[in-house]
Amino acid sequence: MNTTTTNCSVYLLGQTPQPSAILERYKYLQTHGCSLGEFLSVEDSPDGLSCYERDAQPLHAKWPLLVFRPHATSNIAPFMAHCYQLKIPVTVRCGGTSLTGGSIASAAGVILLTNHFKQIKQYDPLQGTLIVEPGVTIKQLNHHIEADGWFFPLEMATAGVAGLASCLSTHARGYHQQEKYFFDVIQSVTFVDGQGVVHYQVPSALVCGAEGLWGVIIDMHLKLKHRFGKRLIFMVQASWEEVLTQLSALRSLQTLAFIVKSHQQFYIGLEGEDWRLTHASAFLAQSFLHHTYLSHALPHFLATKQLFMMLTSALTTRQLPHAMQWALEQANELQLECLQQADLLAGSVHFILQAEGESYDFTQRIQKFLVLWADYLDQHKGKISSCHGIGKQFSPYMPPFWSEDTRTHWQALHRLFDPAELLSQERFFPIPGKCLEKAKHD
Ligand SMILES: Cc1cc2nc3c(=O)[nH]c(=O)nc-3n(C[C@H](O)[C@H](O)[C@H](O)COP(=O)(O)OP(=O)(O)OC[C@H]3O[C@@H](n4cnc5c(N)ncnc54)[C@H](O)[C@@H]3O)c2cc1C
Repeated sequence: MNTTTTNCSVYLLGQTPQPSAILERYKYLQTHGCSLGEFLSVEDSPDGLSCYERDAQPLHAKWPLLVFRPHATSNIAPFMAHCYQLKIPVTVRCGGTSLTGGSIASAAGVILLTNHFKQIKQYDPLQGTLIVEPGVTIKQLNHHIEADGWFFPLEMATAGVAGLASCLSTHARGYHQQEKYFFDVIQSVTFVDGQGVVHYQVPSALVCGAEGLWGVIIDMHLKLKHRFGKRLIFMVQASWEEVLTQLSALRSLQTLAFIVKSHQQFYIGLEGEDWRLTHASAFLAQSFLHHTYLSHALPHFLATKQLFMMLTSALTTRQLPHAMQWALEQANELQLECLQQADLLAGSVHFILQAEGESYDFTQRIQKFLVLWADYLDQHKGKISSCHGIGKQFSPYMPPFWSEDTRTHWQALHRLFDPAELLSQERFFPIPGKCLEKAKHD
């Protein structure tokens, strides 16, 4: 292994003359936790750890010192209690497809795997209720329930890999889906907090978007939806102005599922029974002077280069055209290719910024873009992250969006569940004191 290029903190520790206190604690954890699951350590299996160095974004990496794979979800509480006693930070990881560096290790931290917990329990096909473990994927779940007319309303390219617990933790959203569906379906969760205490029947809204901050989700109670009728997607050739003029009339269509701007076109999705779709399709044709065409699907929205950053930010629908134009100009100046997609109903804009070349230089340009973009969003009362989470990638750009009071309040709440602040370290909260300036302006 190349010690000059790898980002592995164990080599730094290895340079210290005294045996590291951290490694001592890890040894203790391994000895006392060996009946709870399997450990992969840097000493026993350095190569085995390499696949946990990254998630799906290419800019942040960190070799974990230790990875723990529990035998059962019931072993997570005693494991967390050991970590609390030893003050060892923990990052939970499921499918590892986070686009924000959410599932990579924190400094001197353990990675706790939950992706292998894939049991679907207590399924009632009549009521559409069931309990799922954290690693159950959308694809697996839909396969289990669709014969009974149910479905799980989240569509993502990672549907076969991402665990439902992390979809909830990152506030996942299909790029053309209204988010309310997803919330409705996961009714409550069981999670283990930073001291190893189990909390039952917690409303899913508390952990939604929390990125494992309050604790490790070990099961989720679902109440499923029936599959909607048919879906039609129309490609509409129209200007921003034309679509925004029609927006309130479009919103009043009961069948309206999404309006997405992508590749110079608008895509309008309708869902429902045939007779409703006939009426809504006629309305679209009339509103856009017959410049509407049936389309099979939305265009793909994926990075095409090795170096990329994906970001989804929130603004009001009417701010989207200006924001997209502004971001395009900034990206051009920084010589970044900028792919964009806007979701008009959600009020969010997705960017893929990508380039060929060298990683360090790309990171510098991305940092410049993010500083400018955070400033723009702050001025326009937007939010930097509307799905995918914040992770390590966007944490440094959060101060404009927090007041110092809000940070203090949320961190105090966090300490109730995680007094030693072991979970989700180095992400989510801005560094104390960084929001002060903002607080003065409020
Ligand atoms: C090609 C591609 C397409 C994508 N498309 C979409 C999309 O359409 N919409 C979208 O929202 N995202 C999308 N993503 C991002 C990603 O798939 C989602 O964020 C997904 O929810 C991550 O799931 P995961 O199991 O891989 O999570 P991980 O990467 O393992 O973890 C993500 C976060 O969840 C936390 N977490 C993991 N397990 C638990 C647990 N048991 N309890 C508490 N917290 C936990 C982690 O600590 C981390 O903060 C895409 C990614 C890729 C690579």
